[in-house]
Amino acid sequence: MPLTFFSGIGGASKKGILIKGATYLETLAGLDTVVFDKTGTLTKGTFSVTGVHPAKSVTKDELLDVAAHAEAFSDHPIAISIKEALGRAVDMNRVSDASEAAGHGVQAKVDGQQVYAGNARLMESIGVKAAEPAEIGTVVHVARGGQYLGALVISDVIKENSASAMEALKSAGVKRLVMLTGDRQEVAADIAKKVGLTDYRAELLPEDKVSALEGLLGDGHTVAFTGDGINDAPVLRRADIGIAMGAMGSDAAIEAADVVLMDDDPAKIAQGVRHARRTMRIVHQNIIFALAVKLLVMVLGLCGFANMWLAVFADVGVAMLAILNAMRAMKMK
Ligand code: ADP
Ligand code: MG
Repeated sequence: MPLTFFSGIGGASKKGILIKGATYLETLAGLDTVVFDKTGTLTKGTFSVTGVHPAKSVTKDELLDVAAHAEAFSDHPIAISIKEALGRAVDMNRVSDASEAAGHGVQAKVDGQQVYAGNARLMESIGVKAAEPAEIGTVVHVARGGQYLGALVISDVIKENSASAMEALKSAGVKRLVMLTGDRQEVAADIAKKVGLTDYRAELLPEDKVSALEGLLGDGHTVAFTGDGINDAPVLRRADIGIAMGAMGSDAAIEAADVVLMDDDPAKIAQGVRHARRTMRIVHQNIIFALAVKLLVMVLGLCGFANMWLAVFADVGVAMLAILNAMRAMKMK
């Protein structure tokens, strides 16, 4: 019944859910675990700098200036917010040899001096002692030439729909709602509680996210991973079904995903699950209906009761009815 699948995929696409093939519709229908990336998926991913904490003998402006220039070439939401907070354009001529270490931060030469900007793990790896600000939020530490310059605290906002999306998923029968994040334990716990997740794993490197996901696969579980793809394309691929946030998401995510949510709304996942289940029901109805009618006509024929019109109905009539039934999947409730 490929027609029902096509019509189901068409129906979902009208609501901004792009499903890249019939098999994913089947997988979606059986979903019992949804794993989320934090940034850009459950949160808006539009960070803003809420705290600037320079070390002794460093000014706030100097700290921001160095951080923004180190982040010059990064398009991570964290980097964007730091450049915004600077309030003036970044001078690319002052930056060279920039590179990004996923799950850690960035490094670059700013005015010829080696600068690192990133989390506590990054500072540890270069042997710089960092101070931990008390306020809740994502922390970006900055070091230049081996000297600690201070920390920026950055906060993200939870999407308005995240909590109700979790409610909807639970009532659609999804039992495990898990968040994976590279961010700090405190930030993760705070979000997990506010959004209503059943579990979370924090302080993960991108490769840890793959193994965390693998730990949730198997045992008959059907697992979706939802992310914006910044650093998580491998996890998207590893899940039974990869769901990408299409508006904010990177091209790599949209490429790696099986399902793309055009407007980044996590509530669309539960809608997609319900729609997939309804489509599968229609597929099964059509198969059973077609087999039943054909069997009946065959039996009647063997008993000598069938005529040509009955045979025509069994063939064309059933096909027409199946098409009409399949078209119901084009409308998504
Ligand atoms: P998430 O798991 O929330 O999607 P990422 O895996 O993208 O986050 O990043 C994990 C952590 O790595 C961030 O919370 C931050 O501490 C650090 N980090 C990543 N990219 C950058 C960057 N460009 N600048 C500073 N820190 C970064
Ligand atoms: Mg991310």
